Amino acid sequence: MNKLTSSYSPVHVIGGGLAGSEAAWQIAEAGVPVILHEMRGVRGTDAHKTDSLAELVCSNSFRSDDATSNAVGVLHAEMRLAGSIIMRCADLNQVPAGGALAVDREGFAEAVSAAIAAHPLITVLREEIRGLPPKEWDLAIIATGPLTAPDLADAIRAETGADALAFFDAIAPIVHADTIDMDICWHQSRYDKVGPGGTGKDYINCPLKQEEYNAFVDALIAGDKTGFKEWEGTPYFDGCLPIEVMAERGRETLRHGPMKPMGLTNAHNPSVKPYAVVQLRQDNALGTLYNMVGFQTKLKYGAQGEVFRMIPGLEKAEFARLGGLHRNTYINSPTLLDQSLTLKSRAGLRFAGQITGCEGYVESASIGLLAGRFAAAERKGASPAIPPVTTAFGALLNHITGGHIVSDDEPGKRSFQPMNVNFGLFPPLDPGALTRPEGAKRFRGKEKASAKKQAMASRALSDCATWLDKNLLIGGAATR
Ligand SMILES: Cc1cc2nc3c(=O)[nH]c(=O)nc-3n(C[C@H](O)[C@H](O)[C@H](O)COP(=O)(O)OP(=O)(O)OC[C@H]3O[C@@H](n4cnc5c(N)ncnc54)[C@H](O)[C@@H]3O)c2cc1C
Repeated sequence: MNKLTSSYSPVHVIGGGLAGSEAAWQIAEAGVPVILHEMRGVRGTDAHKTDSLAELVCSNSFRSDDATSNAVGVLHAEMRLAGSIIMRCADLNQVPAGGALAVDREGFAEAVSAAIAAHPLITVLREEIRGLPPKEWDLAIIATGPLTAPDLADAIRAETGADALAFFDAIAPIVHADTIDMDICWHQSRYDKVGPGGTGKDYINCPLKQEEYNAFVDALIAGDKTGFKEWEGTPYFDGCLPIEVMAERGRETLRHGPMKPMGLTNAHNPSVKPYAVVQLRQDNALGTLYNMVGFQTKLKYGAQGEVFRMIPGLEKAEFARLGGLHRNTYINSPTLLDQSLTLKSRAGLRFAGQITGCEGYVESASIGLLAGRFAAAERKGASPAIPPVTTAFGALLNHITGGHIVSDDEPGKRSFQPMNVNFGLFPPLDPGALTRPEGAKRFRGKEKASAKKQAMASRALSDCATWLDKNLLIGGAATR
């Protein structure tokens, strides 16, 4: 404890995973002391195998490192600009993996553990925190991840409400709206119902003929599936049955469930009633992403692409995320957290990492980075500076704290699901922002999609640099 040499009182960070380690680093680099509470060493989780901080529980990949046209690559670049310890240790422990950033997992976790242990303003305590932070910890961050220990999870649930904490994610695939063929699909809500804030045309509908429906059901049943891990159990509850399990229960089950055609008229062919309909619902306020209603699945990713592109109108669909069903503790952030990741019901208490509803190592660490900066700013008497939504930081933060549209037509169902960073979370480009290849009158093939990604990536990095320059309160020259 004699490490604390600052005049500020400490910020407490609970959980020394990807998010907690990054949060602690950012706070300490801002000159504010940190106490990092990590339970491994005293109590393990079902997935972690070591006591190292920032252990990677599964793959050793941080995914694409392409900052010119890949959203996670842009996030890497923004984190490097912001002095991320996770990115620094990843870069130092890189192993060859083509365009991806993959790491030697042991070297990486040891490097993060060593950097944190050596920081004069960080103290690591190996202990399980069993309840919400005591009141005397006036600034704290909960970064306990998808496998938060049960006592703390119970305490979070008691504070936020039973519906606000989920233990599994049941994710339906999310599609980039501009890849849906609107010559085949049409906008309409079932029975043209105008719900609160709706227009009667809120859904995109894909029509299936009988033979298309039968082929689709056969493909679902035959498709490769992943199993649950031994410790996950089989969480079929709450109306979140995987679509292929429904298909196995009877050929007509889906037609009476998520694919029912009732109350819908094909705008392109009004006299012919579709045999079945797949509905997609707007997923983000920007209107760039749509989720496939009721299509949570355990199909393997490769099989999902093949099977879901059999649906008329989705032949060329690009998926912002594929479906899944996993053990995952996370809170309903859009209703519970403010823009700076603080629990609305309790000043000074922030959440970070996967428990906020982001998904992935890099995303978890980046939300830790932001929570750390926000907490340090607050400790120093400044207002947390929110990154612009045009940056990867801001786009992901916006998804977590407000960008997602909460479904109001399925009472009792939570629609917020964990998400990787992707360009569908970024605001559209200004008109005229795309420049055609020199001498060309128009874009060919995939040139336009690729130019769009490049323009979004370059806007993000430029806006991130400006945001960091304006907010040198933390890090400054030391971390840039
Ligand atoms: C089985 C599994 C596999 C995954 N595979 C991948 C993958 O391959 N690629 C990918 O990008 N993402 C993957 N993820 C998702 C996610 O990116 C990781 O879980 C990531 O580690 C999340 O970072 P985090 O910091 O939020 O949580 P974690 O890294 O899990 O860190 C949370 C920390 O909090 C500690 N803790 C928990 N409760 C307490 C408590 N009460 N008191 C004190 N400490 C506590 C834990 O011991 C842990 O060290 C996977 C998730 C799971 C569950």
